[in-house]
Amino acid sequence: MTIFKGKGVYGAVAIGKISVFKRKDTTVKRIHVSDTAAEKKRLEAAKEAATAQLQEIYDKALKEVGEQNAQIFEIHMMMIEDDDYNESIESIIDTQSVNAEYAVSVTADNFSEMFASMDDAYMQARSADVKDISNRIIACLSDDGSQENSSDEKVIICADDLAPSETVLLDKDKVLAFVTSHGSSNSHTAILARNMNIPAVIGAGDDFLSAVSDGMFAAVDGYTGEVFLSPDTEALEKLETKQKEDEEKKRLLQELKGKENVTLDGTRINIFANIGGVDHIGAVLANDAGGIGLFRSEFLYLESSDYPTEEQQFAAYKKVLESMAGKKVIIRTLDIGADKKVDYFDLAKEDNPALGFRAIRICLTRPEIFRTQLRALYRASAFGKLGIMFPMITSVSEVEQIKKICAEVREELRADGVDFDENAELGIMIETPAAAVISDKLAPLVDFFSVGTNDLTQYTLACDRQNSAVEQFVDTHHEAILRLIEMSAKNAHANGAWIGICGELAADTSLTETFLRMGIDELSVSPSFVLKVRDAVRHTDLS
Ligand code: PEP
Ligand code: MG
Repeated sequence: MTIFKGKGVYGAVAIGKISVFKRKDTTVKRIHVSDTAAEKKRLEAAKEAATAQLQEIYDKALKEVGEQNAQIFEIHMMMIEDDDYNESIESIIDTQSVNAEYAVSVTADNFSEMFASMDDAYMQARSADVKDISNRIIACLSDDGSQENSSDEKVIICADDLAPSETVLLDKDKVLAFVTSHGSSNSHTAILARNMNIPAVIGAGDDFLSAVSDGMFAAVDGYTGEVFLSPDTEALEKLETKQKEDEEKKRLLQELKGKENVTLDGTRINIFANIGGVDHIGAVLANDAGGIGLFRSEFLYLESSDYPTEEQQFAAYKKVLESMAGKKVIIRTLDIGADKKVDYFDLAKEDNPALGFRAIRICLTRPEIFRTQLRALYRASAFGKLGIMFPMITSVSEVEQIKKICAEVREELRADGVDFDENAELGIMIETPAAAVISDKLAPLVDFFSVGTNDLTQYTLACDRQNSAVEQFVDTHHEAILRLIEMSAKNAHANGAWIGICGELAADTSLTETFLRMGIDELSVSPSFVLKVRDAVRHTDLS
């Protein structure tokens, strides 16, 4: 038995086999080949494999997200058969005597550039598609077509680190736990693990990956951060007991369903849930959350190979609002950038991405993306109780610009005779020290604040949330952070706005009493923490 220790980011125990996450190497080398006919045969086989994968994805998407959203994979299958595309690849192989990977890659670059320069928006959108299908063919050529665990057995995924876009694409039904050598507990990968109720350990160390292999038996303790490779009987028995106790605790918490979030002295608070996608609503309802306090809409973008259309977004938001049946749903506009990157946004590489071009900065600079999302949001507002929230605010002028664009979008919808909720609330995230310090100026402009403690912590303590080396300097209870939250709460209430907390700190029950004393109106946490926080509230006495 070997034990590795990292940081547990979701408390639960998992026991099972390991699957090492294999990342595709997308760098393509130019290699001289003498047998071009054999190269073209390899190409044909890879195209067939790519088409078979797409057919499978199409069938799955059709069942899970409907025909309209699945259509893109049908288009991809057609693109693989496109004559011009294939002639270009074959001609590069023949005339330059080069490997198929290189020919596909050059063709992808040429075609995507050509599509991008066209006037027609539909054709421009094909630019990302041609890159996507080409990457799939290249992966199949490298005999690395699939990273998926093909058996039905659930596995413990082990990786160096996982990007949010990689995490979100894993088949959740096949994941028992995550363990990564690197990463930090406030990263979006850690947050996703919590949202998905998956035991997770991050920062297991540099040597971890070389000690594991596919199929190895292991146990993960998400409470202590321990990972046991080939556990002995004693360790296994202890962990199995812990797993049973865990289930018992969860069962007891279930008894709090339907009960109020009220302290012993009668103070009430809302307990909402955070989600990353439509798939998480089941967990929100199962845990009896009073609403959704944060829908990280950027995951719609991360799951997609191109900008999600207004229709696609509208369908997703409407589904969330309808499923919540009149309960409040706060949807945050696109918070892409920093660790959440998607190729089709073509964002430049930055030295300090956390301090870079992200979230509202992208939306205000590329208003066409923002307007599409706002139209979809307002249209969906007719189907429930929507609040729209804006991330990464640092100034009054940003909020004024946002409100102006929102007013224009509403006016457009009115002119088109489209139904929407005129009273949909507008709020901002307090996740920069600047926003907290000027919260007296921001509060009169909005209906609500929601404190993003994950970013507020990183910016206040100057500790990059992605950098595990500085994790030891992160004190989540630091007085500076608590003072900023308290100041924001006072300023919100003085100006008739309400205030919630939607960062991970909201689920820290050692602070529940502090937040209640500050007058926080809502705590929004991962669905599986709703009942735990309710329990803490019900045991608090503020008198
Ligand atoms: C936060 O920063 O606390 C937050 C809720 O947003 P995210 O974690 O998505 O950056
Ligand atoms: Mg944030």
